[in-house]
Formats: sequence, structure tokens, C-alpha cells
Amino acid sequence: MDEVYETFFANELKRIEKNQQTRVLRTFHGPNKAYANIEGKESLLFSSNHYLGLGTDKDVQKGAIDAIEQYGAGSGGSRLTTGNSLLHQQLEEAIAKFKGTENALLFSSGFLANVGVISSIMGKGDIIFSDEYNHASIIDGCRLSKARTVIYKHCDLQSLETALQTEKTDGKKLIVTDGVFSMDGDVAPLREIQLIARKYGALLMVDDAHGTGVIGNHGKGSANYFGVENIDITVGTLSKAIGAEGGFVAGSNLLIHYLKNRARTFIFQTSLSPGVVGAALAAIQKIESTPQIVEKLQWNSAYMRRRLREEGFHVLEGVTAIIPLIIGKAEEALQFSKLLEEEGVFAPAIRPPTVPEGTSRIRITVMATHTKEQIEQVVQIFVQAAKKMKLYRTIPR
Ligand code: PMP
Repeated sequence: MDEVYETFFANELKRIEKNQQTRVLRTFHGPNKAYANIEGKESLLFSSNHYLGLGTDKDVQKGAIDAIEQYGAGSGGSRLTTGNSLLHQQLEEAIAKFKGTENALLFSSGFLANVGVISSIMGKGDIIFSDEYNHASIIDGCRLSKARTVIYKHCDLQSLETALQTEKTDGKKLIVTDGVFSMDGDVAPLREIQLIARKYGALLMVDDAHGTGVIGNHGKGSANYFGVENIDITVGTLSKAIGAEGGFVAGSNLLIHYLKNRARTFIFQTSLSPGVVGAALAAIQKIESTPQIVEKLQWNSAYMRRRLREEGFHVLEGVTAIIPLIIGKAEEALQFSKLLEEEGVFAPAIRPPTVPEGTSRIRITVMATHTKEQIEQVVQIFVQAAKKMKLYRTIPR
């Protein structure tokens, strides 16, 4: 490699290091489950996105195995060429039924669904209104679209409405928001946002990656949680509560037909491999047939939140499985997470640029498969770690 580039990489890494933003990979020797083997050590896992524990569910695993036996390891092509199997279609039907929409379309990931949808619908002359805490994939979709993006304050209806009143266009308007925000675990006020979208003639897109399988009746997601229907575009992922991999868009027949013809991350990518499709299909069937799993997750989330509060921690309000414990400074959050790990709890620190400066945190997530005793044990470990760091009451945001 030319020396110029070596210098570039090394300097950039130094800068990242100086800001304490260097990222390292941690190695799991086994699946994400309540007790996970992380770098050879059994630890209580309180940071997985497998909220329902379905990645290790026997029926879900059987769904993957059966699918591989019937359809092979890989799908063989993009959906529009040789990669469209009956199994893909069955999963789309199951997703549409679960989400209560006319139709659904699979993407290789939630990330690529967001990028594909936004960049294929919006373009020059259009305006996107995007919540300031939206996921990186939404931000990238907005950038790729070449539309003007107006950022409104997090979940702030006044800020959104003011933006719609002041930013004028003869083109299309899209309001895009996470349903459940990945770092704060709060839920966007979808009823009010939908009213604003209708008032100003904007399309509404909701990324429900962390709401699907978690909140609402039977885990049907954020819109269902508020009793809201007819969201124009819902994006979701199969990689979190569903326990597999892949992304989806749920919406009208017209929207799905359009995306099949215009969304480049759908058209030009090899379709999902049969194993993950089979697993996701089995997972959705499991959620529908066993509502107790979602109920257990909701109970665990509420219990964890309550217990942390009782012990004096500052945790953000919420109803989801994401429980952010705000610490403040990045180095303190890192140290806190390290102490937890020494005591056998895996819950990594989240710091800037992922979250705003001064709000570094431990992003705790609970799973339906955690027992009450495990939650209690973890809360006590949190208390001990906070005492050691003299952080007994964490800083309100
Ligand atoms: N949206 C949100 C809100 C997310 O948190 C994530 C995953 N971190 C994604 C989209 C991307 O989903 P996937 O992992 O399926 O690419």
C-alpha cells in the first residue's frame, strides 16, 4: 500500500483513539442467550437484541434446518432472477398478516430496507423530515436519496410541525421515524405524527426494528401499541426479536410493487438464504401461537426498570426491552461496563458518536428468557459496581 494511505489510516485511528472511540470486537463462543459464552467466560447477557430468545428456540432452529434441507444453504440469486422461493413468499405473507398490511417485501437486512425504501421513493426536490435520533440506516438512506433532509427534535411534535410549515416544496414529503429508538428505548408518538403527516400531505415511514415482537398486542409493534392503523410504510428487521436475520417492508400492494421495481437494495442483492427465512417464518408462527413469550418479555422489562429505579439508578422511562442507564462521561461508562464484566455481566457501554456527548450509558436489554432471579442478580451487580465507582445515583439526563 502506498505510504500516503498507510499514514491516512494510522492518523485516523489515532484520532479515534484520542476521542476514546476505538471499537473492538468481542467473540462469542455460542449463541446469544441468558448465559452466553463470551471469550471463554460464561456471562449473564444483558445486551442482546434477541429480545424473545427465539434464536435458541428449538422450533425456530428446526425451521432453519428444515429450510436448508429443502432449499439448500444459499438462495442462488436476487429475488428477480433465481432467488425467489416459495419460502420467501410464505414469509412475506406471514409478515403482512402479522403487521396487518396488504403486503410485505423482504430485504437482506433492516439497514438495507431503510436505505432502499428512502432512496427509491425520495429524490431531488423532495423533503425528508427525520427525527434527530433516527437510526444510521435512515440517515444513510436520506443521504443517498439526494432529497433535502430536515432534522426535527427528538419526538418533538412542535418541532416537526414547524418544520413542515416552514420548509416548502412542490415535491414529495416524507416523515421518517424510528418506532422504538434503539439507544433510548422510547416510543415515537405515532398517533400524533400520523395526524401531522396527513395534515401536511406527507408520507409516513416508521422503522419498527425494536418494536416488532416487543410491544403492542402479541408484539405487533409500535403502531399497534398506540392503536394506530394504516402507517404508509413500516420497516422492520428479522434480526432482533424474531431471532434470525433480514429486513422487511410492510405496506400496501402498490408500495410493495413499486419497491420491487425501484429499490436498488432489493433488486441487486442476492435474496436471503433459506436458513434465515425458515427460522424467521418459524419465529413468527411461534410468536403468534405462544403469546406468553411476549408477555414474559414485557413483564421482565417492567421488572428490570422498576428494580433499577428502586436502587437509585437513573433509567429512562419506557415500555420497551431497551433500558438505558445513563452514566454521562464516556470513560465512566466504559469503566462501569468493565466492572460489570468482571462480575460476569455483559452489558457494553454506548458512547459518542452513537449517543450525544455527556449521555454515555449502559444499554441494558432484557430477554423473555431471563429469569426473575437473573434480573435480581444483575441488579445487585449493578449496585456493587456503582458503589465501587461512587456513582451510586447516576446522573439524570
Ligand atoms: N433500524 C434500527 C432502529 C436498528 O436499531 C437497526 C439495527 N441496529 C436497524 C434498523 C438495522 O437492522 P438490521 O440489523 O436488520 O440491519
